[in-house]
Amino acid sequence: DAIDAARTPYATHQWQVAPILAGTSAPKDPEPVTNPADPADSPGTVAWASAADVDTALEAAKPWGVPASERAAVLNKVADLYEENFGELFAIIHREAGKMVFDAVAELREAVDFLRYYAANAPEATPVGTFTCISPWNFPLAIFTGQISAALAAGNAVISKPAEQTPLISHLAVQLMHRAGVPKEALQLLPGAGDVGAALTSDSRVDGVAFTGSTDTALKIRAAMAANMAPGAPLIAETGGLNAMIVDSTALPEQAVQAIIESAFQSAGQRCSALRCLYVQEDIAGPFIEMLTGAMDALSIGTPWSLSTDVGPVIDEEARQGIADHIQTARAEGRLMHELKTPNAGTFIAPSLIRVNGIGDMEREIFGPVLHLATFRSENLDDVIDAINATGYGLTFGLQTRIDDRVQHVTDRIHAGNMYVNRNQIGAIVGSQPFGGEGLSGTGPKAGGPHYLARFCRHDAPR
Ligand code: ADP
Repeated sequence: DAIDAARTPYATHQWQVAPILAGTSAPKDPEPVTNPADPADSPGTVAWASAADVDTALEAAKPWGVPASERAAVLNKVADLYEENFGELFAIIHREAGKMVFDAVAELREAVDFLRYYAANAPEATPVGTFTCISPWNFPLAIFTGQISAALAAGNAVISKPAEQTPLISHLAVQLMHRAGVPKEALQLLPGAGDVGAALTSDSRVDGVAFTGSTDTALKIRAAMAANMAPGAPLIAETGGLNAMIVDSTALPEQAVQAIIESAFQSAGQRCSALRCLYVQEDIAGPFIEMLTGAMDALSIGTPWSLSTDVGPVIDEEARQGIADHIQTARAEGRLMHELKTPNAGTFIAPSLIRVNGIGDMEREIFGPVLHLATFRSENLDDVIDAINATGYGLTFGLQTRIDDRVQHVTDRIHAGNMYVNRNQIGAIVGSQPFGGEGLSGTGPKAGGPHYLARFCRHDAPR
């Protein structure tokens, strides 16, 4: 059932990438990019952007001053090129980010949806100016493309800083955008780490920032913008979550277990929407946890190329170590309830289940295949809801129940951007079910929703 990587044209391909500027970039020494699933494989090299490159990009940036219909046509052409270059995009996502087949395909679909949705809604309104777009590694094509295509649809100039873990996919994406007709002054790429991001969010030549990543970084960016940019400069931030699910004693157990397994362990838990803390009603907890750990045992952990793999690697060694330390602490404290066996090579972490008294015990988001479990006694869910709301995050929330009144009761009280009832806690649909959180989870408006593009337009522009 494994796909033979040697049969694919990109199995040994080497991508060599560097900043893409509307000006010249001084040559520099490239560094290797790693494949998280296979320490012996390097899919290519990256020449990181320098401080001089940041300056060059800021000087050269120019808004995309063509009619909305023309921007829309070009963005639709980008979507066509993504579809035509599916194989290469797929191979990069797979080798650079260690994504599984299913996840990589879903990601490409989402990126194309963003392009076509923002193209269809491209406003005539005047742009804000130059936007910095900073993206994470967990959706290195979809989030990257979503931010950029919204900013471009509104006619802004974009300077993009992809995550340092995934420079290769962003480079091909920008090449395809230029090939489709986006001018170079309207879209430049600066591969780099947090220092490049910091330079691009603390410069008065920047007029707005779109950011997806951690809450801590979003707060730093807000402070840097406040000190250096106009008071009205927009920050559109999508950040982390401490996402919970409640399973009450009326829930259908098989349905709930499957939803939990997918929500917590799909993409190795590396989704901002992933389930982190499960609340199970005490009177069903014994048999339910047994069923849950049984379902965990059936998960297969291994190469992302295999169609039967359920859990692939985490992004890099630093991430692996951080998650392993968290599990080790739980083990030492006698709170590790269940754990699978981790493969030896690559940056894999096997799924685990950790006991907590409540979500308040969790200090931060653990970005991996680790599920925390608490039980609750009361027939009234309000204490649990209060505890979840008290984290200050508000991204996704799941509920498994067969009491109809309870759905409305919980919906009215829970602070969450996206709520999922009797299903897995995964996914959004560009256009109809946009994604985004509140509180510590983001500024809104939701990506792929009707209000998102407006944030990339001058607020006094005619609409
Ligand atoms: P994570 O790596 O956990 O997704 P981060 O917030 O560290 O979250 O990273 C998200 C993006 O923000 C990455 O592209 C990263 O390089 C960038 N970044 C990190 N630190 C800063 C900073 N101080 N200013 C701007 N961008 C930053």
